[in-house]
Amino acid sequence: MKILVTGAAGFIGKNFVLTHKDFNLVLVDKLSQVSDAKMWSQLCWYQKKRADIRYILASDLEEWGITHVVNFAAESHVDRSIKNPISFTDANIVSTHYLLEACRKYGKIEKFIQVSTDEVYGSLGKDDKPFTEQSPLRPSSPYSASKLGQDNIAMAYFHTYGLPVCITRCSNNYGLGQHKEKLIPKIVNSILNFTPIHIYGDGSNVRDWIHVNDHCNGIRLVLEKGIAGNVYNLGGNSERTNLEVVNLILGYFKNEINIDGSSLIKLNVVDRPGHDFRYAIDSSFAEKEIGFKPSIKFEDGLCGYLDYTIKGVC
Ligand code: NAD
Repeated sequence: MKILVTGAAGFIGKNFVLTHKDFNLVLVDKLSQVSDAKMWSQLCWYQKKRADIRYILASDLEEWGITHVVNFAAESHVDRSIKNPISFTDANIVSTHYLLEACRKYGKIEKFIQVSTDEVYGSLGKDDKPFTEQSPLRPSSPYSASKLGQDNIAMAYFHTYGLPVCITRCSNNYGLGQHKEKLIPKIVNSILNFTPIHIYGDGSNVRDWIHVNDHCNGIRLVLEKGIAGNVYNLGGNSERTNLEVVNLILGYFKNEINIDGSSLIKLNVVDRPGHDFRYAIDSSFAEKEIGFKPSIKFEDGLCGYLDYTIKGVC
């Protein structure tokens, strides 16, 4: 198996690389403002290319001897997609289409994993059942719509050309090396800098949190056991409101380093347009078919992240 990992300098891509060091990997990333350029420069034992995936050719895949693709490459921040929607369509859908076309022309790909998100299903009410792979697809933001665009074009290549595509749809990731624009690092930075913690609405929006290592493990299982044409939901079984997440982090700061950041919370910041209320993922299909089960409890994973980030303890 020789795996092309795209978006390899991003949060999940680099964690995938670091947890699969014994795999034969080729790394590609365009190195954008969210990428970890330092980590990228240190990964010197890999073949790697700084490029937009739209410029990868069948001849590159041939030269590298690629058999599998994990496509993490995407612009990934919802608020930025609201400010600049067209760039998300271009960066996500169009770039992925070019990569799929290179794979089709190359003709030797044994599996193409399109890394997607639970956000393509849209929003749940408080008492709705979690999303299954059969749930309607109702993206609400330009980001989630562009992710569904990637999924659709990838599946079209499966049905039309027989490219062996699997799609993974994962819930909210957290863990080491996440960009500071995302919720958990943003809260931590606010407390460390004594700046306000702005929370959309009343903080009751719910996300299902999964440790990035559990997500990466799920992707490996799909690489090894996934059936082409299938979608696999990967969730963390850890639904928490945004306010619960803030309070857990505040509790850590208070108990571990005696910093009380509770006065920093600022609720009712004008809500994000089209803000999804709740995501929850039913991963029972992935559990039954490929043996996926998240292993890291949210509170433990969060504590490990905070220990490392705040105290430098592994
Ligand atoms: P990220 O923004 O941290 O990293 C994405 C990386 O992809 C960046 O390094 C960026 O430079 C690169 N990239 C973007 N477009 C590219 C292109 N056209 N060509 C080459 N490189 C490109 O994102 P992340 O959090 O690591 O997410 C990785 C993937 O997982 C994304 O597809 C995202 O939609 C998906 N996902 C993320 C989450 C989450 O909670 N973070 C949850 C489910 C799915």
